[in-house]
Amino acid sequence: MSGQNSDICDLFVIGGGINGCGIARDAAGRGLSVTLAEMNDLASATSSASTKLFHGGLRYLEYFEIRLVRHALAERETLLRAMPHISWPMRFVLPYHKDMRFEGDTPTSRILNVVMPWMKGRRPAWLIRFGLFLYDSLGGRKILPATKTLDLRNSVEGAPIDDKFEKAYEYSDCWIEDSRLVVLNARDAEQRGAEILVRTKVVSAARIDDLWEVTVEDRDTGETRTLRARMLVNAGGPWVGDIIQEKVRINSTEGVRLVRGSHIVTRRLYDHDKCYFFQGTDGRIIFAIPYETDFTLIGTTDAEHTAPDKKPECSPEERDYLINFVNQYLKKDISTDDVVWSYSGVRPLYDDGASSATAATRDYTLKVDDAAGAPILNVFGGKITTYRKLAEDAMEKIVPFFPGTSGHWTAGVALPGGDFPVDGFDTLVAQISADYPFLTAFWARRLVRAYGTDARDILQEATDTDALGRDFGATLTEREVLWLMKNEYARTAADVVWRRNKLGLRLSAEEIAALDVFMASARTEQQAKAAE
Ligand SMILES: Cc1cc2nc3c(=O)[nH]c(=O)nc-3n(C[C@H](O)[C@H](O)[C@H](O)COP(=O)(O)OP(=O)(O)OC[C@H]3O[C@@H](n4cnc5c(N)ncnc54)[C@H](O)[C@@H]3O)c2cc1C
Repeated sequence: MSGQNSDICDLFVIGGGINGCGIARDAAGRGLSVTLAEMNDLASATSSASTKLFHGGLRYLEYFEIRLVRHALAERETLLRAMPHISWPMRFVLPYHKDMRFEGDTPTSRILNVVMPWMKGRRPAWLIRFGLFLYDSLGGRKILPATKTLDLRNSVEGAPIDDKFEKAYEYSDCWIEDSRLVVLNARDAEQRGAEILVRTKVVSAARIDDLWEVTVEDRDTGETRTLRARMLVNAGGPWVGDIIQEKVRINSTEGVRLVRGSHIVTRRLYDHDKCYFFQGTDGRIIFAIPYETDFTLIGTTDAEHTAPDKKPECSPEERDYLINFVNQYLKKDISTDDVVWSYSGVRPLYDDGASSATAATRDYTLKVDDAAGAPILNVFGGKITTYRKLAEDAMEKIVPFFPGTSGHWTAGVALPGGDFPVDGFDTLVAQISADYPFLTAFWARRLVRAYGTDARDILQEATDTDALGRDFGATLTEREVLWLMKNEYARTAADVVWRRNKLGLRLSAEEIAALDVFMASARTEQQAKAAE
């Protein structure tokens, strides 16, 4: 292992999504010297565009992806304990109707078509119950409550749902603030010695004897420089193939399949804190989830996406598909007028030759190539939920090149701000509200959700709102913005209002533009100070 000050690092990680940042954190915690380069903002690609669930993936059971589901289920509670600020348990209500159908071609539907042809592709209630029994039992659940059956008639859960649905199943999964998870992993990696470079693009990498020479470009200035590393990790998500073929130029037959998923956000559609799991007549499923206090998140779609550089956007067809889907369930129809925001991301799925986008495996694949000298690890696929396990498995592939490296350590170690009990969120909000009585209830909860115990590091000795400087609207203050620039790599208003928090839902375009101007001048000042 090289010392942290050597000009050659052990591991150079390409990509600041959840997989790159998770691997960087794990490796730095084992004493490896790590540099990570992200070409845009951290979590600017897929890792801020997920459905934001730590989940086992109930529907993957129908594809017999038992390994993936078991690992993901077991992982939920490990993660929950390490980050009780940005992750929390959620209950999912799955309304049942006898016309619910399977996706056309799952292994389960094929078997059912043979043994119960009279069902004609319908998903029987006993099968859902059995799936939920497996879901409850596979993952060693301790914190999360078990599945139960609900009568939708005369219940709050049934209130917004069409009367034709009388029965539902209710089960557990967890919410995760995806983009904050990425940033907290990056911060933790840095605290353990890693160097995190944002807006730094890897333009090429070449093997020179036993080392990699990695050329990076500063996206703000256009300047390039070359860094050296003993091993490369390609965690480029949708760009993993581009990096293999265009940047590193190695021979590889590995492929990645790009599958776009879009979400729409509406004003809050119902008055309780549970999610809905809706099954469509086309066999697909979507979620409706309470979002950012006043909104409902609805998604997702599955559509082939042609190229990683093509910005994923929710098409009018995807938006209408989601609206029509929820309207099959809701008493009161929604329309395009109800949609206040949408976002879209690209799943980088390992190309296993599966026939449809929905059917492509969600599991991850890690491949080392060291045939021609210095090693590279290519990361294909993966879920937010399995990022920590993926990082551990990546380390299993990395440590043989660094003899003496220590073993797994991340299970049970809190992320920044998550050093409080798994059921301690309300207590922490009450303490922060008592210590800073000028905060509104929304504001105190928002700060604790985002920063956990680090909320105090932002608020410090403040006794009133004036102490926090300029007010950018929706409880965002100058103090918080400068803290995000100093501690969480934020450079632009979009970094702050769409990835460090979601206040973009509440701020006007003018307010966001004003924030951008402020951040640009604050950054110039910071750079001038640093140059002194
Ligand atoms: C619609 C949708 C819903 C999902 N829902 C869930 C869910 O609810 N739960 C769950 O567990 N998972 C979910 N997932 C899956 C999960 O979001 C992804 O598997 C995960 O975010 C992938 O992370 P990543 O780090 O591999 O990729 P990314 O987050 O895309 O990160 C790759 C990074 O590499 C950078 N990069 C690329 N090339 C270069 C270069 N040359 N130089 C420097 N940087 C570079 C990119 O800018 C990017 O930021 C969902 C995915 C989608 C699309």
